[in-house]
Amino acid sequence: MKRVIAILSIYGLLLCIFFLSLIEVTTLVGYHNFFTAGELFAWITANPNETSDIAQYCMRFILPYYVICLLTFALIGWGIWSLIRNSKTIIAGSIVLLLLLPFVIPSSPANIFKGGYYVWRQIRNIRQHRNDNIYFKYNATRSHVPDQREIYVLAIGESVRYKNISINKNYDRETTPLLSRQTNLCLYSDYYANATLTQHALPMLLTGITPNHFEEHFKRKTIAAAFYEVGFKTALISHHAQLMNNGNHDYLAKDFDTLVFVAHDSLIVPEINKLAKSNEKLFIVTHYFGNHLAYTNRTEDCLVWRPDYNADPTISNDSALLNAYDNSLLYTDRMLSEAIESLQEAKCIAAWLFVSDHGEYINGNICGHGFSYSPQKDEYHIPLMVWCSDEYKVVHPEKVANAIKHQGTPICADYVFLSVLDMADIRIDSTLQQEGMSIFEKQLKYKDRTLLLPDGERSIIL
Ligand SMILES: [Zn+2]
Repeated sequence: MKRVIAILSIYGLLLCIFFLSLIEVTTLVGYHNFFTAGELFAWITANPNETSDIAQYCMRFILPYYVICLLTFALIGWGIWSLIRNSKTIIAGSIVLLLLLPFVIPSSPANIFKGGYYVWRQIRNIRQHRNDNIYFKYNATRSHVPDQREIYVLAIGESVRYKNISINKNYDRETTPLLSRQTNLCLYSDYYANATLTQHALPMLLTGITPNHFEEHFKRKTIAAAFYEVGFKTALISHHAQLMNNGNHDYLAKDFDTLVFVAHDSLIVPEINKLAKSNEKLFIVTHYFGNHLAYTNRTEDCLVWRPDYNADPTISNDSALLNAYDNSLLYTDRMLSEAIESLQEAKCIAAWLFVSDHGEYINGNICGHGFSYSPQKDEYHIPLMVWCSDEYKVVHPEKVANAIKHQGTPICADYVFLSVLDMADIRIDSTLQQEGMSIFEKQLKYKDRTLLLPDGERSIIL
């Protein structure tokens, strides 16, 4: 009996190592990298829609491995059966071991346990600290409050990289034809993200915390609280698969007066219109599903570049992922243009600042973000865009001129928080307000562009 328990324990241990190695095989084959702790966190906390998209993408690469695994499992069953019958145990055990060995990556168990510990710590931190900001105040003020209606929007995109949007005038595919035709729209050519994963980028964009002090964001309220302090109604309109609709990150949504989660990006503009009708002073954060892996967010009429990885799954082509990505950008172009047009039609003082949370790496049949501790430029060189209404230009000509002046200046996500406040002419407590950190100011302060790595702890200067 003792012998049976001992052999079963060894089998059990081997199976655990085998499974952990399989997870690693998935990321090695899918991303050509050992998986990062942040990526594991993203998988665990992601909405099922997002996880299923990523899983489908990975499965296409690794299906042959899993077929071999199934055969291996059949042999394991045979091994255990032989063991119980006390016959041919050694032969069965040896065959199973030999079959398992090619899949066992020695570093995987340690890597995955370390990643698992990180995930546990992150979730524990969120649970412990999600209410740490309860007495926090921005002491926000406005020097002048216009009599007219005002709407300000912080639009947060998903995985949009700078080099693929044709509004940059350097991409030969017309991926953003509608944005290119917008007047009063300003694109920043040298803007970097400060993280390559949404769960790091979003809290920093919403609280103004920088990569070297990431965990400090728990002590601050989000930007909605600053707008609220000066009399704005605040609303979050988010795709339901995005971060603030999951049970771990919903703490970022609690400062908004109104929360709307929509099933599709196309439902964001109707919600903006509803809110705009009934509020005099309005601040909205819109969070898109956008161009997240595996680039399924688009309608049929956006299938311009073929073969598309999702629409033409049977055609093997090195450009299929890039085509799918560009097709989804065409759809994002429509979503963002519609938002601008709805603000234009509101005929009020309105300004809109769009930023992607991070970029995307696509090379042949490999794509993703946050999968490497040595991120590629495509993962952090992303678009920042600002649009304002004619009414806004009349009230804030200086801000508009300054924003245009800085279009080519090297900046990063650390500038977004104070820029959005300044866009609405809001200043916060002197201990938090920093001069030169808003694109609407005359002079910009030089700042190293720092990126938080996917472990959520280390950062690098870009
Ligand atoms: Zn993201």
